Amino acid sequence: MGKMQTTDCTIGIDLGGTKTRLGVVDFLGNVLEQITIPTNVDDGYDAIFADLITVIKKFRNTPNSNIKALGVAVAGQVEAVSGLIKFAPNLYWHDVPFGQMLHDATQLPVVIANDVRSATYGELCFGAGKGLEDIICLFIGTGIGGGIVSKGSLLTGHNNSAGEVGHMVLSIGGLPCTCGNRGCWETLAGGWAISKNTQTAVRKDPQAAKQIILNCGGKIDQITPHHLFDAVKDGDLYATSLMKPIEESLIAGSTTLINAFNPESLILGGGIIEGAPWLVSTIEQGVRLQALKSATEKLSVVRAQHLKNAAVIGIAAMAMNKIRLTVWQ
Ligand SMILES: [Zn+2]
Repeated sequence: MGKMQTTDCTIGIDLGGTKTRLGVVDFLGNVLEQITIPTNVDDGYDAIFADLITVIKKFRNTPNSNIKALGVAVAGQVEAVSGLIKFAPNLYWHDVPFGQMLHDATQLPVVIANDVRSATYGELCFGAGKGLEDIICLFIGTGIGGGIVSKGSLLTGHNNSAGEVGHMVLSIGGLPCTCGNRGCWETLAGGWAISKNTQTAVRKDPQAAKQIILNCGGKIDQITPHHLFDAVKDGDLYATSLMKPIEESLIAGSTTLINAFNPESLILGGGIIEGAPWLVSTIEQGVRLQALKSATEKLSVVRAQHLKNAAVIGIAAMAMNKIRLTVWQ
């Protein structure tokens, strides 16, 4: 492999359960080209693979494109070295050798990583964590995922599964979680739980919840976090009271992580933060009161910079690193 050029690019792919984002990213983290395609989960991994290859070919055929590697970010467990996707729950994949398949088809170096960790890397290299060495990125969406960077290293854990902070138990004997345990952080503040818990509360007291019922068009079983947030934004007191335990759990979980890892910056992203951006200052005020003084003295709490692109940029940067490492070895 030759020396790296400043025109070199990599392809970052964020393989999601409903849609897949693909981007050509340069070594400064600029997204030069981008496309989002549906993920046809029902058609199986061969069909998804073929869809990706079509876009990759298109990117590579663009004049002046200088694509040197590609990376795929996916929700689930992956083996970093072999590129094996061990389990991707949103895709219903078990043991798919996706890295090898992509390498065989493109002859490019391929990196496969967890999507939350990719997004953390994107924020670290080219986002809210740029220039910092100790950060925690929390992505609060349907679930809660986290990426922890300590002295510049993204923690992977022994079996490459570190960062599953949404399954920290914050309520012993609490509500059942998707992971089989009870009382995980996600059961209190993950998007799926906010929907479910709001629906339960609304059914119990429809009179008090009339603003939320109005927001969801009377379809209580279709209530999402956004129906709750919209009512909060309108100053609805009942909705605000339902937000209270969500906010408390976000402060409690963040406090625990800050005490454990002493980051310089807590970076918050994901659909829940986008829908309720005031949570950033709520969490900041809460952790300043509750976390250890030594851990919060130099702490900043900020919003993630790349809303939808963090994983694409991050996995592209990991792919770029792979070429650099190969060159330097
Ligand atoms: Zn759990």
